[in-house]
Amino acid sequence: MKFIEEFNDPELAHRLLDDIHATVTRPWAMMEVCGGQTHSIIRHGLDQLLPKEVELIHGPGCPVCVTPLEMIDKALAIASRPEVIFCSFGDMLRVPGTGRDLFRVRGEGGDVRVVYSPLDALAIARRHPDRQVVFFGIGFETTAPANAMAVYEARRQGITNFSLLVSHVCVPPAIEAIMQSPDCRVQAFLAAGHVCSVMGTAQYPELAERHRVPIVVTGFEPLDILEGVRRTVRQLERGEHRVENAYPRAVRAEGNPAALRMIEEVFESADRAWRGIGTIPASGLRLSAAFRAYDAEERFDVGEVRTAEPAECRSGEVLQGLLKPHECAAFGTTCTPRTPLGATMVSNEGACAAYYLYRRLEVAPVG
Ligand code: SF4
Repeated sequence: MKFIEEFNDPELAHRLLDDIHATVTRPWAMMEVCGGQTHSIIRHGLDQLLPKEVELIHGPGCPVCVTPLEMIDKALAIASRPEVIFCSFGDMLRVPGTGRDLFRVRGEGGDVRVVYSPLDALAIARRHPDRQVVFFGIGFETTAPANAMAVYEARRQGITNFSLLVSHVCVPPAIEAIMQSPDCRVQAFLAAGHVCSVMGTAQYPELAERHRVPIVVTGFEPLDILEGVRRTVRQLERGEHRVENAYPRAVRAEGNPAALRMIEEVFESADRAWRGIGTIPASGLRLSAAFRAYDAEERFDVGEVRTAEPAECRSGEVLQGLLKPHECAAFGTTCTPRTPLGATMVSNEGACAAYYLYRRLEVAPVG
């Protein structure tokens, strides 16, 4: 399959690995920002093929994982209302809130539906004018254009029974927060290619310069990741800190102008809480004043939401790259994909899920 098999070529992978081995002279720690990259690294064992000097630190780029508990609990409260059809991407249904998840709400009679696009949710709203249809609009800059488009179309078509429960987060402020942490060991970033395909690379040179870190835009297939690591190691060894695009088949410096226009039209910057990390200033998006009528948080008064994270879940440290999943005592024992204590164990992009899927026979739980 074009663009898949050709980026899995073992011969080319060996050549890239040889180059990395020949270049590296001392230890370096780099963070892959996106959970999709983490899964690719662990699934293909790329970290085990790299020189021991190159450490890959798993970053916070899993949108499901960083959606704050308070927002999950609000989703559960809204989805429980009899007049609501609550629509979401499938991977949010098993994310634990305080005491239950969306699957449980569905089991208790709530009308919770899995959709593949926010526009599917809008179509449901059109078919059911007597119901309130809410779409759970989470994610990084990658999902923001489609969510913005749904709200834009709702207003254009005069559909008033549709709203968005928004929990969008943005990558550059997270990089800033990671670099400002006193425990930070990160010396370079593999930036998330899909985010850059929307946003472009304009936000990164200032970050790279100020923190003196290379930022290499990287894709998701094994060769993409090895090429991103190769370029990063080369910069680190030379003492450089530039923004490089190692994913040119998908990313242009200016991003996707149509998607950017849609985000700008519908959203505005806002402080956002990140699950397990805390509030990062100006790290998210919310509906702008012109579209605030479509904000589910404004439309539904869910009262006071009291949240409680399981004490043994250390996903906040996992998301900041301070802890590997198997170093959590609950990994593979009390916490499994069937009995998740944190979102990082259920999300398709969660680091705990990646280690459970591909490494659990190699890494004994640390008790
Ligand atoms: S293994 Fe489970 S309990 Fe531990 S950090 Fe990951 S999600 Fe939380």
